[in-house]
Amino acid sequence: MRSKIIIANWKLNGNWSFNEEFASALSKGLKEIDLKDRQIVICPPNVYLQQLNGLLLEKSIFLGGQDLSDELSGAYTGEISGAMLKDFGCRYVLVGHSERRARHFETTDMVVRKAVNAISAGITPVICIGETLEQRQKGLMKDVLSDQIQALVVGMTDQIDSIVLAYEPLWAIGTGETATVEEAQEVHTWLRSEFEKVNPAIAEKLPIIYGGSVKAGNAAELLQVADIDGLLVGGASLVPHEFLSICLAGL
Ligand code: PEP
Repeated sequence: MRSKIIIANWKLNGNWSFNEEFASALSKGLKEIDLKDRQIVICPPNVYLQQLNGLLLEKSIFLGGQDLSDELSGAYTGEISGAMLKDFGCRYVLVGHSERRARHFETTDMVVRKAVNAISAGITPVICIGETLEQRQKGLMKDVLSDQIQALVVGMTDQIDSIVLAYEPLWAIGTGETATVEEAQEVHTWLRSEFEKVNPAIAEKLPIIYGGSVKAGNAAELLQVADIDGLLVGGASLVPHEFLSICLAGL
């Protein structure tokens, strides 16, 4: 049985006092709750990792980075490595988020290198894949996702069992538009079946989480789908009581 993972992606948000209030609300809200193996992950901007590492003391709450370099060290101004994230207590790191693919021109090759670097640093990469609205409307969704998966399978070989896959349809990110439970279920089941063709044992264990306008109001129904192993939450993760409800949804 796969456990559920709820990930907060704060993006370019947060500040010293917000972080303190958020951590205190979350820690209080989760205290003495049986999360049934559910893991909660907060991905703040890197500069706040150390602050949050000292504040998020509940045992089910972990830290994650929002990105890492595809290089290990050297003359790469502004970048941060997996080893550095590990030093700051990260257990997870987002890789290939659509905003990075679009704004920073991250290629699939870079995404694979980043994921491999994360694993060698002892961090689990949460690899984001997804299709645009135009691709979906043109009936290209499966081709697009299949290409993204294929690159991972080829580039990561035996490390593919150390990832979390995040299905984030681009048309649902930050738009208020969520895939229906049926739509999400269909894609997640199909994604797992694609991994089954490669290795059934890995497919069975692979956590596949959903992201795209998740809120307190739809978290429980999404989490009850057998092939949805968690949620990646952007906007709603910045509202402490809303994110807390998502963390507790369906328990
Ligand atoms: C995201 O950016 O990963 C995301 C899912 O954002 P939102 O929840 O705001 O759609």
